[in-house]
Amino acid sequence: MEKEKNEKNKKLPKKEEINEWYPEVLRKAEIMDYGPVSGCMIIKPYGYAIWEHIQKYFDERIKKLGVKNAYFPLLIPESLFSKESEHVEGFAPEVAWVTHGGGTKLGERLAIRPTSETIMYEAYSRWIRSWRDLPLKINQWVNIVRWEFKHPTPFLRSREFLWQEGHTAFATKKEAVEEVFQILEEYRRVYEELLAVPVIKGLKSEKEKFAGAVFTSSVEAWLPINRFSQAATSHHLGQNFSKPFEIYFYDKNEEKQYVWQNSWGLSTRSIGITLMIHGDDYGLVIPPRIAPIKIVIIPIYNAKNKEDVLKYAQEIREMINKLVRDDEVVLDDSNDTPGAKYYYWELRGVPIRIEIGQRELKDKSVVIFRRDKREKENVSIKELSKRIQELFEDIHKYLYDKALKELREVIIPVESLDELKKVIEEKKAGIAYWCGSVEEEENIKYVTSGAKSVNNPLEGELERLGIKKPKEKKCFICGKKTDKIFIFSKCI
Ligand SMILES: [Zn+2]
Repeated sequence: MEKEKNEKNKKLPKKEEINEWYPEVLRKAEIMDYGPVSGCMIIKPYGYAIWEHIQKYFDERIKKLGVKNAYFPLLIPESLFSKESEHVEGFAPEVAWVTHGGGTKLGERLAIRPTSETIMYEAYSRWIRSWRDLPLKINQWVNIVRWEFKHPTPFLRSREFLWQEGHTAFATKKEAVEEVFQILEEYRRVYEELLAVPVIKGLKSEKEKFAGAVFTSSVEAWLPINRFSQAATSHHLGQNFSKPFEIYFYDKNEEKQYVWQNSWGLSTRSIGITLMIHGDDYGLVIPPRIAPIKIVIIPIYNAKNKEDVLKYAQEIREMINKLVRDDEVVLDDSNDTPGAKYYYWELRGVPIRIEIGQRELKDKSVVIFRRDKREKENVSIKELSKRIQELFEDIHKYLYDKALKELREVIIPVESLDELKKVIEEKKAGIAYWCGSVEEEENIKYVTSGAKSVNNPLEGELERLGIKKPKEKKCFICGKKTDKIFIFSKCI
């Protein structure tokens, strides 16, 4: 028994052992579990509740932009999937195919959607006829399968994941391009305002853009595994799909025009990014706005005062119920020791813990423990509601600022490939003026053993985030004059 207790109270060193820390904490905190097929995991209720917060937030935002939800089939006939050549080339290595129905070989292989451009655009070509049908803005919340061969990491790199994919069609290029950045801004809001994760908005390089896109924009987050992670993407597809898929309309002059299209996606990777960034040696630290359980109340009593303390705890609970949803507050009156309860709820990253004992009962107060800083304070019940609301805001801000400080410190201006190599070896990221050449990017990858361009931050982004800019406006490899700044690092 004693041994088990010691084991239970063991700290999990995050920084030193992040590769073990991450999956272990996620599993112990019951965010996820492994499924029987490698790279396909189970998202448990405590993890799924985080996804529901993200869905709700983003869904409301895009509906304000006129986007409507729908559902398209999981299986895509090979002939349809192959219609746009760059797209099929880019995705072919990762597609899982259905070849049999029962014991019968199918006449045509069916792709399990790795993304839904092709199946949606076949329908769009039938639905769009006139300028009155535009813009068409459809989103779906679904699972997709990409048969990765790299080592799977829960949420960050898996074969099956959940996401939303928005697919929009416009009469003009101008409207389409505007929407790309409107959605990118919505993704920034999800990360920064909901998940307390600072992200860099920017454009992907020619080599790293989406297969079939004219250009790809992204938000990128820095992870404690010393890698950037593509946190969400918004692509402008131009007429690359509307032409092979025959998606055209007759404009007001009765002239035939092909539509201009975008696609954009945010996945459950966002959960992995958030949990990996904010966690510490004691387990998860979940930002209040997405925490499935926001407050836990721990009564501390003995045989003599048990009844009074529990009654007081119940009163506090009722008070809190006015602030958060009923299922977001737990009164833990189980028979475990207070220490075991602290450990259990800290591991699960609950933002606020309220402790109630004899002294608090007497003073009409409570002890509040905030998970982010692991600090305690005494608060009178008169002040409690106000203080909790302040703390929710403060915890969000503290987590965001802490992550932003790390992001700033890790991006180092470089002026040569040698300097970039050194920075990558030090497990940081480089920032440089770069011409964007595909050959140079291949060379960067070779010289640095795997680093890539992350993105070309949009105007004002580096200033907004307080990231240092490189000096000379010339490509750090070939020396050509350029205005474009790129960040480089290893990525997941
Ligand atoms: Zn160059």
